[in-house]
Amino acid sequence: MKSAIILAIVVLSFVWLSGTSWAQKTASGVAPVTVIRAGVLIDGVSGSARHDQLITVRGNVITDIAEAGAASVSSNVPSNAPSNLPTGATYIDLSQATVLPGLIDAHTHIFLQGEDPAAGGYDIQLLKYPLAFRAARATVSVRRALEQGFTTLRDMETEGAGYGDVGIKMAIEGGYIPGPRLFVSTRAISTTGGYPLEGYAPEIEVPKGVQIIDGPVEARKAAREQLDHGADWIKVYMTHRSWVSKNGELMSQPTLTVEELRAIVDETHGWGKKVACHAYGGEGLQRALDGGCDSIEHGLMLTDAQIAQMLRQGTWLCPTLSIYYDDWAPADTPEGQRDRKRASEHEVSFRKAVKAGVKIAFGTDMGGMPWTEPIAQEFPRMVEFGMTPMQAIQSATSRAAELLEMKGRLGVIAPGAYADVVAVSGDPLANVKILENVGFVMKDGQVFKNDLAVKNPASKNDAGQGR
Ligand SMILES: [Zn+2]
Repeated sequence: MKSAIILAIVVLSFVWLSGTSWAQKTASGVAPVTVIRAGVLIDGVSGSARHDQLITVRGNVITDIAEAGAASVSSNVPSNAPSNLPTGATYIDLSQATVLPGLIDAHTHIFLQGEDPAAGGYDIQLLKYPLAFRAARATVSVRRALEQGFTTLRDMETEGAGYGDVGIKMAIEGGYIPGPRLFVSTRAISTTGGYPLEGYAPEIEVPKGVQIIDGPVEARKAAREQLDHGADWIKVYMTHRSWVSKNGELMSQPTLTVEELRAIVDETHGWGKKVACHAYGGEGLQRALDGGCDSIEHGLMLTDAQIAQMLRQGTWLCPTLSIYYDDWAPADTPEGQRDRKRASEHEVSFRKAVKAGVKIAFGTDMGGMPWTEPIAQEFPRMVEFGMTPMQAIQSATSRAAELLEMKGRLGVIAPGAYADVVAVSGDPLANVKILENVGFVMKDGQVFKNDLAVKNPASKNDAGQGR
């Protein structure tokens, strides 16, 4: 009976996943089997960890989770493998590690590399770098993410690199380069006066980091163009810049009107896609909510009324905390005061949102900071500001999967999910910073990195290094 259920799940999984690459099928057409022994399993959904579990992977899908248990494990076999291992199966011994679902960063910019002012800042990216150079560096960004256990990214626009994210996604899906699953948003949208490049002579036409629209007709057309060219999400900038006002408040300039945003949201929802809105606070954030945004990016200054509206509307928050603690300008400058004010407001806003039960997805704004930085630095920041370690982990697994409408398929270790599996040495529930050192990465059933599995010369089944 149990095997019939598993078979049904496998068959269903084949149906769900049709259209994705099945590169792992052997010549005979049978998907290879891998069995992973997890010392500790945090499955992304359950409230507590389980011990000594066996995860069975067929092709790129998880098909079974079972107690390893003393009975099923042969004590005579030095490899620590279960005695009932399916014939031909690869066995990966992570009995000394904590296994989790592949992590999801719901706010990245693979086409940015940190904006070091000394190296030309943001502007040089658009003014001097050929697109191929930026694409080559994006190839490194996605590899870095995968190495760190982030098997899925929602990339929140290319910053002047057009539809480059669609191309990088194609290259990953085609198996040409290693990288996470990408959900891309292409060019993003703002208004005249609402995005860099800025500060050039009015006589010179400079490129912009987004598609500029004015009026609901242009707004809808931009959304149509971006969706037509492969956007999985539409990204809209609802606020621009921030500064501290004379009476000490953090201010941010609103950009699109509610009417402009509504045209975008209406169009995008018609395509079955969703809209992410960059919004710091104030009027712009209010318009984002009134216009029907699906996720608020950053949300530095959420009022109680706005939190209530988010709960009512089911709006997500993708807070991206860490980046606001990185690289502050000197304290005695307007920029430095702004940077400090942004960080202090953000903490208050995030704490209120957690307490109220707003749906929160993990995001970092990587690219805004260099890809050499650890992506997982966001976890300790979330815990510092009121989440439990398990809540923080779930924000980067099952909750983020829900945001992406991939519930049950990503961000969870359970039958029917894609085989995106990572592992760390130690207990991330005791010290969430451990997630900065992911030692094992499997994506789509393929081992990309394995520094953790117990190696045993007696076993022919040890999985080696991936590509
Ligand atoms: Zn961003």
